[in-house]
Amino acid sequence: MPRKKESKPPSRAKIEDLKTPKGMHDIIGDDYFSYQGFIEKAQEIALYYGFSPIETPILEKGEIFTRTIGDFTEIIQKEMYTLRTKGGDKLAMRPEGTASVMRAYVEHGMRTLPQPVMLFYSGPFFRHENPQRGRLREFRQFGLEVIGTDKSIADVIVIKVFSTILEEAGMSNLCVDINSLGDKECRSAYKKALTAYFRKYVGSLNTHEKELLRYNPLRLLDSKRGELQEIIEEAPESVDSLNAASKQHFKEVLEYLDSLDIAYNINSRLVRGLDYYSRTAFEFIENPADDNPSDEPPLALGGGGRYDYLAKALGARKDIPGVGGAIGIDRIIMHDTGKKLRPRILKKPKVFFIQLGFEAKLKSLGVIEILRKAHLPVKQSLGKDSLTVQLGIAEKTEIPWVIILGQKEVIEDSVIVRNMSDRSQKTVLIKDLPDYIKQVIAK
Ligand code: AMP
Repeated sequence: MPRKKESKPPSRAKIEDLKTPKGMHDIIGDDYFSYQGFIEKAQEIALYYGFSPIETPILEKGEIFTRTIGDFTEIIQKEMYTLRTKGGDKLAMRPEGTASVMRAYVEHGMRTLPQPVMLFYSGPFFRHENPQRGRLREFRQFGLEVIGTDKSIADVIVIKVFSTILEEAGMSNLCVDINSLGDKECRSAYKKALTAYFRKYVGSLNTHEKELLRYNPLRLLDSKRGELQEIIEEAPESVDSLNAASKQHFKEVLEYLDSLDIAYNINSRLVRGLDYYSRTAFEFIENPADDNPSDEPPLALGGGGRYDYLAKALGARKDIPGVGGAIGIDRIIMHDTGKKLRPRILKKPKVFFIQLGFEAKLKSLGVIEILRKAHLPVKQSLGKDSLTVQLGIAEKTEIPWVIILGQKEVIEDSVIVRNMSDRSQKTVLIKDLPDYIKQVIAK
């Protein structure tokens, strides 16, 4: 019988080639607790101010974002991760949270709840950007949305809660850059004024900028290109196009900020990339300390704004006013002066558990469970057998108390508790162990 030719297995990538994708990273060790601690604190503050939690899927129908963020934005043109499922659905990895939360508000009929509906969320977001300082492809945000009111106090609640969270995380020298883009009427007047202005300099624009001039002239103000800066400096300001109602709204927001002692800077260039913003737009910027000036431009730690026309862009029959934004959690954790917030569950174990022999191994998880119920975290090395090896690990981890469960103790339902600093030890019945440990570690 002819033998089948043996085929070579397909060549496989080496493990070194299977690193995390560019711009994405693992969160391990102490960093993990810093993220968790930050999120816990942010959630707690949001709850105190009356916000409720929401979690939306990481994947959404792509149209949620293409209809709202705007075609001529970096996110839609270049940065969104999209995929087609086997069933043919076009999905996108969420690049931001607001559109999804508004989708959820409409989908779950939250219009019938007492208004406004105040929601907070956190999780990963994805943008295919060029990774650089403070810019990742997978990044985490903590967001707030107040939906169902157009009152200026809602804008201020969002800014105030973000500012409190950032202060609690140790961010100092904070300033809110703020601007108003006005309502539909003002926005269209402003777009016209900008278009007329930039047309005069069309010779200085590159191809992409010419396209922006046609479709989204506001985004020209975001340009970082050196040659354009002087032209941008002299461009008309959105506040000059505000009608009476938008002017009044902006004035009220600033008055509230004054009364809350929140430092702000009116930045007429702040238009933010997304199409759906109306009236208030804001960003939290950290000013460099006077004694530590930096050459690098300050990074935005968070930002947001009002989005009174977003719901209709999603297909809602009526406009639903709202305001919100998000803090970039990675930027806070990477920050060298930030305060590392610790999660509540994190307790440094003060006890190391050692077992000797098979019977002791069998019983060990039962003893650890008794200690867990008494809120006493335990380190162990249950895979090891030798007393010397386990004691060596306990010593390396600098844990002050060791519990030893040997064969004799298994029979007597007891353990030996050893003080690692003076090597003294005492036999304690397992039923008395939690109280005994609490007593000795409290000393
Ligand atoms: P945005 O959704 O663009 O308004 O961003 C809100 C905040 O999220 C920003 O102020 C940043 O702190 C953070 N952020 C946005 N994009 C990224 C990114 N690519 N990498 C890390 N953080 C980001």
